[in-house]
Amino acid sequence: MKIIVIGAGASGLTAAIAAAEQGAKILMLECASKPGKKIYATGNGKCNLTNRNLSAANYRSADLALIGHTLERFGSRQTMEFFENLGMFFKDKNGYVYPSTGQAATVAEVLVKRCRELGVEISCDSKVTSVRKTKSRFSVFYEKEEKQLEEQADIVILAAGSRAGGFGCEVTGTKLAKFCGHRIIPEVPALTALHGNATKFFKLVSGVRVDGTIFLREEGKKGILSQDTGELQLTSYGISGIPAFQVSRYASYGLKRGAKLNAVLDFLPEYTYHMLWDKIETERTCHGNRTLEDIFAAIYHRKLVCGILKTAGVDGSRKIKSTSPEERKRVLQFCKQMVIPLTGTNDLSASQVCAGGVDTGEVTLEFQSKKIENLYIIGETLDVDGICGGYNLQFAWASGWIAGQDAGRKERK
Ligand SMILES: Cc1cc2nc3c(=O)[nH]c(=O)nc-3n(C[C@H](O)[C@H](O)[C@H](O)COP(=O)(O)OP(=O)(O)OC[C@H]3O[C@@H](n4cnc5c(N)ncnc54)[C@H](O)[C@@H]3O)c2cc1C
Repeated sequence: MKIIVIGAGASGLTAAIAAAEQGAKILMLECASKPGKKIYATGNGKCNLTNRNLSAANYRSADLALIGHTLERFGSRQTMEFFENLGMFFKDKNGYVYPSTGQAATVAEVLVKRCRELGVEISCDSKVTSVRKTKSRFSVFYEKEEKQLEEQADIVILAAGSRAGGFGCEVTGTKLAKFCGHRIIPEVPALTALHGNATKFFKLVSGVRVDGTIFLREEGKKGILSQDTGELQLTSYGISGIPAFQVSRYASYGLKRGAKLNAVLDFLPEYTYHMLWDKIETERTCHGNRTLEDIFAAIYHRKLVCGILKTAGVDGSRKIKSTSPEERKRVLQFCKQMVIPLTGTNDLSASQVCAGGVDTGEVTLEFQSKKIENLYIIGETLDVDGICGGYNLQFAWASGWIAGQDAGRKERK
């Protein structure tokens, strides 16, 4: 009698611990050379493992009720208790929780250590290629050291994550779930940078970090698809930084359906257009000999000023008194509403998560497949993506814990 966990990542390691603590015998099959590889890369190597301000509204999925229910059962408090029991301390930065060591490696290490203590067998370099259910058992087929191998199990926990960040292998969790008859919501890159069609502007402003707001709009449509405020990072190809990440899943889906999307940037959301206009007009009347460049450089990063003035087609070395109202309005328009036509996003390998995945309507509140008894599907393989800030790992721990406990209890019977 045993449980096979496919994938020794965040959700899989948690599920293995939860099940093994119930006395279950566990084999983990992991395609990478070591367990928890993605965890090491999280939070810029610091691992933002949860967030004290959790709500289902921070997630996107067809089934937000499942998320709400999951967070009620296993929220940030339970995550912290779980890691405390593994020996960890924390740092809390405005609700964003990190290990006290400041090292993501700590998180992976305590998980793996606990698995070993519980006798969980972790087989690395083992790529699962298919899962088949015979009458009451599962056959799990995998490749290891160029050999085709097969293992039997009573319960399978599919925790193979996604290929986001360039991790995993070509036989993804969703592929394995599809073989098992599950419906897959189209997968797109999320929490990723946006590519824009404004080459000259981006060349001039590349490297600038500016606190601003990004609005995602569809051409010809009223309203905003998504928006976020924070530090925008302007690059040679487009827009990165947390605000771009937060809107990126909507950009990915919009572009996938062929919509024409624009990112509209406000480089100083604290000041309205009229406040800026008044400021510029005061400069014109009181200091008419000042150049546009100098006036705007007192408000914005100098490189950004150069990019805005060039895009507006106004020579920055001109004295403000010599400019026309139309020219000044044009410059302000670009400061408050720089429209960047979007051409794409970074691909999945350069993204933090994958939106889409196994339809959450096809799993129970314990993350058991409604199609195949004793198959559990957890973590990012499901159609659940959270915003930046510890929400994705939180879902991985929570779904792993709930599924692992449920599976472990069955094993005992
Ligand atoms: C660069 C980066 C930074 C991030 N930072 C954060 C952060 O700070 N906070 C946060 O909340 N989220 C962060 N995330 C997202 C978070 O890491 C993931 O959402 C989370 O790891 C998902 O957990 P999982 O268990 O579902 O998948 P994973 O952690 O990806 O684990 C899946 C495992 O399955 C293995 N696998 C895949 N296919 C197979 C197969 N066929 N056979 C065997 N094994 C297989 C993979 O190798 C992998 O080890 C970040 C992601 C990236 C890429």
